[in-house]
Amino acid sequence: MREYSEKELLKSMEDLISKGFVVFVKWTCEKCLERATCDTPNAFYTQGFTHTKKSDGSICGHTSFPKKFGIVIMKGIVTGSKNDN
Ligand SMILES: [Zn+2]
Repeated sequence: MREYSEKELLKSMEDLISKGFVVFVKWTCEKCLERATCDTPNAFYTQGFTHTKKSDGSICGHTSFPKKFGIVIMKGIVTGSKNDN
């Protein structure tokens, strides 16, 4: 999987979202070294990302701000209002 810097990721997300794709940010958790996927579609957290659940179902809860990101791209429309101002 391709790894993106923060700048590249934001640009790609913007591009994909504008085309109607749903994207989830992926990153490697610093604590347990698992690949984590963001629970919220089309979300980017400048305060850091929290790895909620590990692949075995247990809770991790570690928040970090990754240096490199991956993207999970899905087809679909996220409903709900977004403030574009
Ligand atoms: Zn973790």
